[in-house]
Amino acid sequence: MKHVAIVLAAGQGKRMNSPVSKQYLQIQNKPILCYCLDVFEQSFIDEVILVVGKNEIDFCRNEILASTSYSKLTAIVEGGKERYHSVMEGLRVIQDCDYVYIHDGARPFLSLDILDRMEEQLITEQACIPGVPVKDTIKVITDNGFVENTPDRSRLWQIQTPQGFSCSMIKEAYNKLLLEQNQNPEEFQKRIITDDAMVVETYLKIPVKVVEGTYQNIKITTLEDLKLAEIYLQDFNI
Ligand code: C5P
Repeated sequence: MKHVAIVLAAGQGKRMNSPVSKQYLQIQNKPILCYCLDVFEQSFIDEVILVVGKNEIDFCRNEILASTSYSKLTAIVEGGKERYHSVMEGLRVIQDCDYVYIHDGARPFLSLDILDRMEEQLITEQACIPGVPVKDTIKVITDNGFVENTPDRSRLWQIQTPQGFSCSMIKEAYNKLLLEQNQNPEEFQKRIITDDAMVVETYLKIPVKVVEGTYQNIKITTLEDLKLAEIYLQDFNI
């Protein structure tokens, strides 16, 4: 069985207010992006495809990855405007494989345990994503800020990456997305695609299995997350 990871690092990180994209910022003298690459390197994953921003391939190779050597990193490609464009660029370079794991490069605390749990589930399921139960009460609110409803908290999970799929199935799901974008742009405009499981749920209606993630597997989005990441590294020895 061949397992390929796509690591997404083409976002600009506007919510961080930093001139450098968030995945290139450093925590304890190491770029955020390298933390997950280190984990993939130690795992059962056979190949890693890295997706970076436009005109960032040389910068990434020469500045971010210069002092490291990743034997599994087989391609660095340019991503696109939205996250799903970047995923499609990653999928395009995958020739033959059985399973694809799509991961946010801005999540440094991916663990080998999460990957193992996913590998196991993917023997019987075509789609598998990690998550953790939400701790807060979540409310759906209206455009002008009033509570519309309060979903049952016991069934709400916060979803993370990597998200794992059978390779042929995720390619088919993204092909269908592309088809809709071209043939029915008005319908497509209404969709807000924030993860890969959503593409599978929307276009193929295949069941997506949720496995246990970890509360540490945060996405670095704002400055608070960076501070939290420093604490995790000091106190939890991740
Ligand atoms: O923007 P968001 O926080 O959802 O991004 C999640 C991940 O997707 C990040 O690692 C980011 O670099 C990546 N991304 C991308 N291409 C985009 C937008 C986001 O690779 N156009």
